[in-house]
Amino acid sequence: MQLPERVRIVEVGPRDGLQNEPGIVPTAVKIAFIDRLAATGLEVVEATSFVRADLVPQLADAAEVLTGITPRPGVRYPVLVANDRGLDRALEAGAQEIAVFASASEPFSERNLGRGIDDSLERFGGVIRRARRHDLRVRGYVSMVCGCPYQGEVPTEDVARVTTALFELGCDEVSLGDTIGVGTALQVQELIEVLSRTVLVDRLAVHLHDTYGQGLANTLAAFEAGVRIADTSAGGLGGCPFAAGATGNLATEDLLYALEGSGVHTGVDLSEVISVTGWMSEQLGRPPVSRVARAVLARNPDG
Ligand code: MG
Repeated sequence: MQLPERVRIVEVGPRDGLQNEPGIVPTAVKIAFIDRLAATGLEVVEATSFVRADLVPQLADAAEVLTGITPRPGVRYPVLVANDRGLDRALEAGAQEIAVFASASEPFSERNLGRGIDDSLERFGGVIRRARRHDLRVRGYVSMVCGCPYQGEVPTEDVARVTTALFELGCDEVSLGDTIGVGTALQVQELIEVLSRTVLVDRLAVHLHDTYGQGLANTLAAFEAGVRIADTSAGGLGGCPFAAGATGNLATEDLLYALEGSGVHTGVDLSEVISVTGWMSEQLGRPPVSRVARAVLARNPDG
């Protein structure tokens, strides 16, 4: 296996993880979670989401969270926005980077984002242009890149079309989401190979869920295919609302363990991430789903 010398991890636990929590985590705990994660060496910690509070009550305190953290030099704190109103709120709270989210699946886009793919891209075009005028960095997400709960298979051409469109609209980076975690290693590599013909592979990230236990294998497969950025969440936080009983994101420490053992540099301290996971798991009142965190915390409960 050919792995790169260095990769970047985008920590999505405070947003993608906590958004999928059944309960609402206190604002002070969210702020401490982000600050602790940023102290582990992570370069990017996705902080929150400026979407409608009635749709995502778990992140209704987005402005308090973003203004409450202690930004560390060199760490980026992107926030999700869905529209102009979200961008206004994010700017007001001092955001320097936003993320917008489209889907490669038409039925998913219609049912879960409230509009079809082309409509959503058009709307994001305006948001991205405004964000760039404010010198914000913009990350794009494409969901359902390996399969969709409504349409089943998602053609690679559809993923390529949405990814290319997001770059053309002005995204600096596009993250490919296997939102239901159904992809497998060769499928991910083939997808990256097709995308590499039209977009710069070093501007792609992968966001591969662990629902079927494939998150780590698929992420390593993406690295082998040339990707250098992966989204993960501390402790494996984050359910998957479209696959009942499933785990969500690949755990940051599970990926870090594999990379450290393979000599791939991330700049992130594995034992510090595990201790943040241990602390967060106490706040949430349940053990982490991360296999690495469970193994280490069982040996040494204090991390
Ligand atoms: Mg996710």
